[in-house]
Amino acid sequence: MSRLFEKIYVLFRMNILIFVLLALTAIALFAYENGLDNIEFLKLSDFPYVIAQSDSVDGGGSAVKLTRTDSSVIMDYELREGYAYPYAGVKIFLGDGKVRGKDLSHYDSIFVWVKPRGEGSVRLYMRGYDSAIYRDGDETSLKFNEIEFFPLNETYPAVFVPQEFRVAGWWVAQNEVDVHKARVDLSNIPLIEIQTGTNAPLGYGTLEIRGLCFKGKKIAKEDLTTGIVGVWFVTFFMILVIRFFDYSRERAAAKKKREELEKNLKALEIEKTEYEKSSKEDPLTGCLNRAGFSSILMREQENLVKNDSPVSFVILDIDHFKHINDQYGHSVGDEVLVILCKLIQSKIRNTDALVRWGGEEFVILCSDTPIQNAQFLAEKLRMAIENTQLIKQQQVTCSFGIAEMVAGEDPKRLFERADKALYASKENGRNRVTSATFKRTR
Ligand code: GH3
Ligand code: MG
Ligand code: MG
Repeated sequence: MSRLFEKIYVLFRMNILIFVLLALTAIALFAYENGLDNIEFLKLSDFPYVIAQSDSVDGGGSAVKLTRTDSSVIMDYELREGYAYPYAGVKIFLGDGKVRGKDLSHYDSIFVWVKPRGEGSVRLYMRGYDSAIYRDGDETSLKFNEIEFFPLNETYPAVFVPQEFRVAGWWVAQNEVDVHKARVDLSNIPLIEIQTGTNAPLGYGTLEIRGLCFKGKKIAKEDLTTGIVGVWFVTFFMILVIRFFDYSRERAAAKKKREELEKNLKALEIEKTEYEKSSKEDPLTGCLNRAGFSSILMREQENLVKNDSPVSFVILDIDHFKHINDQYGHSVGDEVLVILCKLIQSKIRNTDALVRWGGEEFVILCSDTPIQNAQFLAEKLRMAIENTQLIKQQQVTCSFGIAEMVAGEDPKRLFERADKALYASKENGRNRVTSATFKRTR
């Protein structure tokens, strides 16, 4: 069941139904125009309920006689003086001939096969039952839907459309019918009369009546139109509803996706910050590495040029570190590095940056610090290291080299000068501080 629903849903979604509807509409209209005919013959030769009539019922003297042939009913008559409007004709009873007749209202055309011998017009009455007018048992109260015509050879059979009928004025007057009730109505015809026309000459005459034919469509055009419009309307309504749900669903999905993306973005940002931080950090000691150092160096250079703020560069190297490694193992060496870093960090300012330059070599970039102060700091650190038991196995010392940054100087040069000073400390016995020549001009 749900699969069927799914299928219908897909049909609606893909607009296939619109094409199907277009095709069906075209087929329906084509079928209507070219078929779906509803044709009914009333052949008098074998229709039993046909009787003759004449003005004798109205006090006239005319006579009439009916003869059936294989194909028609022949009416021979003699119109005689007596009644004011002498006539002769046939009555054809449909249904019960009184209140229950045939509904001829949905036919588009009525064919009449009537041939008079000689000239003269013919009257055709479609006698209609209307409950508001009908008087019980009184046939004259059946409405006279009338047409009078001259049957001609070239227009045989005569064809009429319902709109060509009129309601006889004399009948309206005689029965005092309300004008609104006096319109043609073929919806219930219990009786059809075919008679000689208004000015038929007195004397003998013959009328050959084959019968009538009613032609229409099986479906009324209005019903067809209403049906098609209805189906279109329902389809479009369904499409609209489904589109609405689709739209809501898409919106919800888009929102979810957006939220997911935002979450991912946030995670990425956090990751990026972490990565940036870790890429600038030395994993063993947690102090800056060279990558982290370069941005700080640039900042300090700028500070020097712009604000004439002195910057000093202290480079320090553990004395005989190789020996510690060799003697006590690499992990003890690592321990020395970590503890040394902690010690230095605790002795320098927040604005100073401690960098692990490589191996057992560290750099301290001291902002807003002239070389004398850096020298003082280095000496303080040297003593602190010397006097601290970094590891229990042996005492650890460091050698220092110091240089002050010169505005516009290549950082490589600065490092070389500091390194030279460090080299001098090593040369001169280690565990000491050496300053590079100070070149400050101002
Ligand atoms: P000097 O007094 O001349 O500086 O002698 P030194 O032994 O300290 O110098 P050298 O450059 O000969 O040795 C440095 C040693 O530091 C060599 C290397 O194995 C060690 N080293 C470098 N990085 C690390 C590290 O991350 N951990 C440990 N445990 N040792 C390291
Ligand atoms: Mg070294
Ligand atoms: Mg060393």
